[in-house]
Amino acid sequence: MLGLAGIPLGFQFRFLEPSAGCPAAIAGEVIPTDYDDLDGLARLVDGLAVATYEFENVPAATADWIAQRCDLAPSARALAIAQDRIAEKCAFRDLGIPVQPFAAVSTDAEAVHAARTVGGPCVLKTRRLGYDGKGQCVIRETGDAAVVEAVTRGWNSLGRVACILEAFVPFTAEVSMIAARGKRVHHANPIAFYPLIQNVHREGILFRSVAPAPCDPLGELACAAQGHVQRLMESLDYVGVIAVEFFVTDAGLVANEMAPRVHNSGHWTIDGAATSQFENHLRAISGMPLGPTGVRGACAMTNLVGTAPVTAEILAIQGARLHLYGKGVRPGRKLGHITLCAEDPAALARPLDRLDACLKWG
Ligand code: AMP
Repeated sequence: MLGLAGIPLGFQFRFLEPSAGCPAAIAGEVIPTDYDDLDGLARLVDGLAVATYEFENVPAATADWIAQRCDLAPSARALAIAQDRIAEKCAFRDLGIPVQPFAAVSTDAEAVHAARTVGGPCVLKTRRLGYDGKGQCVIRETGDAAVVEAVTRGWNSLGRVACILEAFVPFTAEVSMIAARGKRVHHANPIAFYPLIQNVHREGILFRSVAPAPCDPLGELACAAQGHVQRLMESLDYVGVIAVEFFVTDAGLVANEMAPRVHNSGHWTIDGAATSQFENHLRAISGMPLGPTGVRGACAMTNLVGTAPVTAEILAIQGARLHLYGKGVRPGRKLGHITLCAEDPAALARPLDRLDACLKWG
């Protein structure tokens, strides 16, 4: 999707992708090699103006290697923070961005200590390499001894790797703020915010995103989220698109995690915003002016997970835009998405009902 956004701007792309059948091949040259293959990396950076990533688990050492040889945006530091849930939570907390109580777990003693300080209910997650709800275990117990026992059991079931224990957040909704920050022009970096997005997950995987967020009719949450994301981007001297996911609670926003890249909850911007997140990411990292980010009416993006729908059924729905990624079918895999745009949020209800009747999940 980055490649498709950049071709009309006259950009050329080279991609590095370890697994076979890379969907990006339609948009440029693919180097099919591992992230630590120095020959492949040398071919990747040869003559590049700028490098970027759209996958969080690119090893930090690879990002550092690239950054020493060509411009890399977002920075290797932003990637390293996003790869470690403890570093990420500490970065939020140090900037005054609200987070739930949390503690590190990497020994039996820490598991006991974390269980006692965080308490139940809580969520144990691997510090690294978790995504789409993988590497997580929800602990519903509440009594002191029961929580200690459940956390210890959960930590063993996650393979005793370094973890974070987070308090369970009783959220009323989940939202994300996506923003782009450009390179410095006249002593300041331009920033553009997309409307606040409301997200619904199924089994830890994003099912649907709606913009502007229906849970924020007065725009107060959007305003708070913008402040948090602006402080985060400025503290990291960030360049590119960033997404920060928040829980909405009675006491306001609680930050869940950041993605230093274009984000699934922003895929609706291809059809629904004045400039897509993909185009704005490319504009930001190549030092171009950012494009406007307003939503045209209201927009809903629905992920296609595990099963591809019948194309003709989707295209028969008024206003539906189908995006298939050209990936092989596998249970739980995101194969594409569908965007529905309408004049206003109420007008989305009927086409969304029709869409839901055509979809299978998983
Ligand atoms: P994550 O991988 O951290 O984005 O978690 C995936 C999903 O699990 C989130 O979008 C939430 O729906 C749920 N979740 C994760 N952490 C918590 C938490 N501390 N409290 C409540 N729900 C959570």
